[in-house]
Amino acid sequence: RAKGKLTENFEYFAPEIEERTTRQLDMIRRLRTDFAERKLELWFQPQVDLVTENVVGMEGLLRWPDGNGGYIPPSEFVPLAEYSGLIVDIGQWVLEESCRCINQLEQAGYDTLRVAVNISIPQFRDRGFVQRVKDALTTYNCPPNRLELEITESVVMDEPQIVIDALKALKEHGVAIAIDDFGTGFSSMSYLQKLPLDRLKVDRSFVSDIKPGKSAVIAETIVTLGNKLGLSTIAEGVERREQASYMIKLGCDEAQGFLFAKPMPIVELMDYLNSKQDS
Ligand code: C2E
Ligand code: MG
Ligand code: MG
Ligand code: MG
Repeated sequence: RAKGKLTENFEYFAPEIEERTTRQLDMIRRLRTDFAERKLELWFQPQVDLVTENVVGMEGLLRWPDGNGGYIPPSEFVPLAEYSGLIVDIGQWVLEESCRCINQLEQAGYDTLRVAVNISIPQFRDRGFVQRVKDALTTYNCPPNRLELEITESVVMDEPQIVIDALKALKEHGVAIAIDDFGTGFSSMSYLQKLPLDRLKVDRSFVSDIKPGKSAVIAETIVTLGNKLGLSTIAEGVERREQASYMIKLGCDEAQGFLFAKPMPIVELMDYLNSKQDS
C-alpha cells in the first residue's frame, strides 16, 4: 500500500517539481542579467535607540525590481542567489554600496551612524573575503567602526572555523558584528563566546509575540542573555507602540521596524535624516 501511494504521489508531484525547478532556473538567469545590468537596488532601514528614538544606524536590504513597478522579495531571490553562487558578486556589490552610503552620510555630517550588511555563507567560503571588506572600506574612505556585518546562526554552524577566523580578523580591523534573527536558527551557545560579537538582533517573530498585557518570554530571555554577555541588543520588526515599550522594559537597547521607518532608497533616507534633524 505504501509503495503504491508513493508512486501515486510521485506521479502527482513530478510535474509540479519540474515546473518549480524551471521557474527557479529562469529566476536565476534573470537575476544574473539584471545584476549585470545594475538593476538591483540597496535600500536602507533606520535603526533607532529605543529610549530616545534617535537614529543610530541602518540596515542595507536588497531590492530587485520586477519590471512592473513592484519588487521581488529577498526571501524569494536571496536563497536562489546563494544556491547559484551569484550572492558572492551581489554581496560584494552590497558591501560597496553600503560603504558608499557610509561615505555619503559622513559628507552630510552624520559621522556616527553605522550601516549593517547581511553576509551569506558563500561569501565567507570565497577566499579573499576579509581583504575585500577592508578594500571596500578603504575605497570609500570609511572608518571601519561604521560598518556592521550581520550573520545568522546557520552561517556560523555551516562553517564555524572559517566564519570565526574571518570575523575575528574583521573585528580586529574595527568592524562590528551582529547575530541576525537570533533564536530562530540551530546553534550552539558556545559560539556566543567564540565569536567576536557586538550585537544580538532579536528576531521579529519573538517581538511580534508581544501583545497587550502579554509577556514575551523568548524576547526577554534573549535580551537578558545579551545583557549578561555584554552585548548590545536590537529588536527586529517592531510595528506597534506596545512592542517598543515592552522591549524598553526588558532593557533592549535599539529597535528596527515599521513603527519607526520602513526600508527606503538612499535619497529618501537622507531626506528622512534631515527632516529628523530639523524637527
Ligand atoms: P533580515 O536581515 O532579518 O532583514 C530584516 C527584514 O525584516 C527585512 O525584510 C525588513 O524589511 C523586514 N522588516 C523590518 N521591519 C519590519 C516590521 O516592522 N515588520 C515586518 N513585517 N517586517 C519588517 P526584507 O527586506 O524582505 O529582507 C528579508 C531577508 O532577506 C533579510 O532578513 C535577509 O535575510 C535577506 N537579505 C536582504 N538583503 C540582503 C543582502 O544584501 N544580502 C543577504 N545575504 N541577504 C539579504
Ligand atoms: Mg539582517
Ligand atoms: Mg533579521
Ligand atoms: Mg528576521
